[in-house]
Amino acid sequence: MRESNMIVARALAEVAKEIREGVTTLYLDSVAEEYIRDCGAYPSFLGYEGFPNSICVSVNDQVVHGIPSDYVLKEGDIVSVDCGALKNGFHGDSCYTFPVGEISDEARRLLEVTKVSLYKGIEKAFEGSRLGDLGNAIQSCCESFGYSVVREMVGHGIGRSMHEEPKVRNYGRRGFGEILKNGMVIAIEPMVNLGSRNIRVESDGWTVRTVDGSLSAHYEHTVVVRKGKADILSSFEFIDQVLGKNIS
Ligand code: MG
Ligand code: MG
Repeated sequence: MRESNMIVARALAEVAKEIREGVTTLYLDSVAEEYIRDCGAYPSFLGYEGFPNSICVSVNDQVVHGIPSDYVLKEGDIVSVDCGALKNGFHGDSCYTFPVGEISDEARRLLEVTKVSLYKGIEKAFEGSRLGDLGNAIQSCCESFGYSVVREMVGHGIGRSMHEEPKVRNYGRRGFGEILKNGMVIAIEPMVNLGSRNIRVESDGWTVRTVDGSLSAHYEHTVVVRKGKADILSSFEFIDQVLGKNIS
């Protein structure tokens, strides 16, 4: 599973290299698919319940499950890229929300807080912790900044199937919910809105948007529950290297 997740991590970095004004989201899909196939892996999302592409690309008020298209990225957009890969019978799953060029302070803060909330959740993914503790850590972080957490879409167990039990909610009550066991592998993925938490599904049957049109961000890691501390199988390290280079 670490191998599958490293492929995802590097595929997201390949996509990161190409994210700029003037690029279509369908082009980003082709970059990810080519990288995953070059690794001898299969894009987990391609054909999943009929999904037509290899990554989900969700721009601005799109929350998740955006279908790559001829939409051309423009400066100021935020674009979440969710990616999965299947290798040796096991899936990896990770997501990162990228800025396109200069973005507003409001958008930048949403991205920062959503990423921080992911790590707050991961801090609670240890043996003996409860899923309510994990969800509560994410929720309280986001709500302390005035953001809202999407309820309908959740993280999940992952392994030989992309989506397994348990459901990993991004909200919850401390001391409640399933107790995490050593060796469980879960995908933790806060979806966080600048405005209200309410969402709707577009007529394409996939794309999820905020009802109020506010921006939404999404970060995801696949982690193994361990004693004392989770082991993060996916990584943003390669993305950080790419984004660092763009700044200098
Ligand atoms: Mg994902
Ligand atoms: Mg996932």
